[in-house]
Amino acid sequence: MKIAKTVKILQNHLNLEREAGNRIGFVPTMGALHEGHMSLVRESRRTCDVTVVSIFVNPAQFNEKKDFDNYPITIDEDLKQLEEAGVDYVFIPAPEEVYPEGLEIPPTELTELKDHLEGEMRPGHFEGVAKVIYRFFDTIGPDKAFFGQKDFQQTVVVKKVAQQLGNKTEIVVCPIERENNGLAMSSRNVRLSDDDRQKAGFLYRALVKLKEDCVYKPLTEALTHTRKFLESKPDVEIEYLEAVDGNTMEIVNDLSNDFVVCVTVVRFGGIRMLDNIILKDK
Ligand code: AMP
Repeated sequence: MKIAKTVKILQNHLNLEREAGNRIGFVPTMGALHEGHMSLVRESRRTCDVTVVSIFVNPAQFNEKKDFDNYPITIDEDLKQLEEAGVDYVFIPAPEEVYPEGLEIPPTELTELKDHLEGEMRPGHFEGVAKVIYRFFDTIGPDKAFFGQKDFQQTVVVKKVAQQLGNKTEIVVCPIERENNGLAMSSRNVRLSDDDRQKAGFLYRALVKLKEDCVYKPLTEALTHTRKFLESKPDVEIEYLEAVDGNTMEIVNDLSNDFVVCVTVVRFGGIRMLDNIILKDK
């Protein structure tokens, strides 16, 4: 496994890979790796010849400085896991390498996406995500890039960036990896106490119940029921719980669209728990 800290060195390696006819898979991460990240790595290894993983805590996508400063960093363990998984290249750039002075990154047209739901709760977040992904896709030129369904709105944003760059990179969305109790794996889960981490499975159970309810109840009624259930739990605060069109993130009130996802964030145990469930996918 080779570690590249500059764009130039990574590009030199990847140019040779391309000349050898190898297809490049790319998994962008912010480190503090867990099974969720590793499932993306496995999918890249399964479907591409060469896998590049980036570890970069992107300052541009943090709207709270405290969250950025406290973001967990576990680089030694990360490298060990990536090596064991058979990753070919790890890209660990410094911020100046990603955003050199004077470099203009063309903004992605995100329209309502950037101020809606997760975008409304985290102003500037998706502009920061689009910026780093543009820079990575532009310099790495991957054939495929792998993202988790966990950050559902992010996958919609990333598809826009790929489109902006001429759809040269196929976006592959991989299923959510969960802990035994259903809690979606996240680097921020380490901030939960052991007790809260055990209890936190309630959110996934509520989402599964919602999906079951949708079979015999109108969507709006099922959503109201889920909101009431979550609000009745001690120390739980809903930031949002909405059903959206999975291609546009527009809020929907029934299941008539082809692709409908329930996206949610609840605050519990001092963290924002982000989760979602696909209610319908044709
Ligand atoms: P992050 O390091 O949080 O930026 O995440 C890097 C990638 O891993 C993103 O595409 C995430 O959606 C994905 N990811 C994070 N958690 C999970 C999970 N529990 N299951 C699957 N993918 C995940």
